Amino acid sequence: MKGLKNRGYLRTDVNERRRAAEEFTGAELENISKYCFSSEKASKNIENMIGAVQIPLGYAGPVRIAGDFAQGEFLIPLATTEGALVASIARGMSVINEGGGATASVLSDTMTRAPVFRVDGLDHAKRTIGWIEDNFALVEAAAASTTSHGKLQGIEPFISGRGLYLRFSYTTGDAMGMNMVTIATEAACELIEEHTGAQLVSVSGNMCTDKKPAAVNFIKGRGKTVVAEARIPGAVVEARLHTTSAQIAETNYRKNLVGSVLAGTMGANAHAANMVAALYIATGQDPAQVVGGSMAVTSCEDIDGDLYISVRMPTVEVGTVGGGTSLPCQSEALNMIGCAGDGKSKKLSEIVAATVLAGELSTLAAQAARHLGKSHNALGR
Ligand code: NAP
Repeated sequence: MKGLKNRGYLRTDVNERRRAAEEFTGAELENISKYCFSSEKASKNIENMIGAVQIPLGYAGPVRIAGDFAQGEFLIPLATTEGALVASIARGMSVINEGGGATASVLSDTMTRAPVFRVDGLDHAKRTIGWIEDNFALVEAAAASTTSHGKLQGIEPFISGRGLYLRFSYTTGDAMGMNMVTIATEAACELIEEHTGAQLVSVSGNMCTDKKPAAVNFIKGRGKTVVAEARIPGAVVEARLHTTSAQIAETNYRKNLVGSVLAGTMGANAHAANMVAALYIATGQDPAQVVGGSMAVTSCEDIDGDLYISVRMPTVEVGTVGGGTSLPCQSEALNMIGCAGDGKSKKLSEIVAATVLAGELSTLAAQAARHLGKSHNALGR
């Protein structure tokens, strides 16, 4: 490490730092040196930058969506290295279109941060909660002093031993909101400490819960809770997916529902994380939050021979401003779906859910028809 420091580890020049890394590791970084964005602008997104890794970008769709916010036909940008994924999602979208398109709705929208305080015991915890209830306007004002878009909606307390966990919920405009709510919550915590004597241990006590699969998010939601659904005529299922609605419904029941219960998964789906990861990486979302996106529940029913399919996604943590969304490639990808900038984050979350719906449909159908291995063999290796 000493050599790196001497040769630019702590300096700001990207090329110098990369050369130092080449020297230290003995690896040539010629391809990593090629990228199209300003390293100065990216300095808010990364430290010790030495270049960029590229991920192939493709599209699936257009898919027709009649959402509360996403309305029309969308060509979906997807960044992945998994062969067959984009083809499968595209197949799902084309089948959804033949059924008339997907509908989608955002059911709730709040970002959470849950600091943990040390208290003297139960009585102190209850007094602290009482003070917050009586002085909510003051706490709200402290949080609001740090942000113009973040609005505190509520604080849910959890007591355990001498720990008091306060789950703060905010609307965050069109930002995913993690930085915003962390800063706002820190300001609120200072006030709570001052007036109650409760001692802040950490601004995140993991009841938030960020970047870990968690029942609290699965049940209550975090970021956007979104549902998307479609109804596919039986004849389309048979002609295009080479199976039946009943077979897909049984595959969903035995695999996604019972199989997931037996495995103890958080969520019940075929591969929601695949669609979420590809769309998040393409559009500058925080890739670690694929964890939340993976907790989808997929439902399928055979209704008089037609296939009804839906996904419920309790934790879609996305933004159309802030984070990685303004990097040039990611911003172009957001423009492909009309989701760059103000007023677009709910629309983006409905597009995420519709994309997951298409991927779930195609993969469930492939497994019902026993085609999964065959298509991966043909396209993915
Ligand atoms: P951010 O880029 O830190 O903040 C968003 C900024 O956009 C705020 O300054 C906000 O201003 C401004 N803004 C302008 N127009 C807006 C609009 N229409 N809606 C909302 N905000 C608007 O982004 P963030 O979403 O809060 O945080 C995302 C970043 O946090 C990602 O890079 C992610 O990787 C990272 N992250 C952080 C933590 C953490 O614990 N800190 C955890 C996980 C992820 P005002 O605030 O003044 O309104």
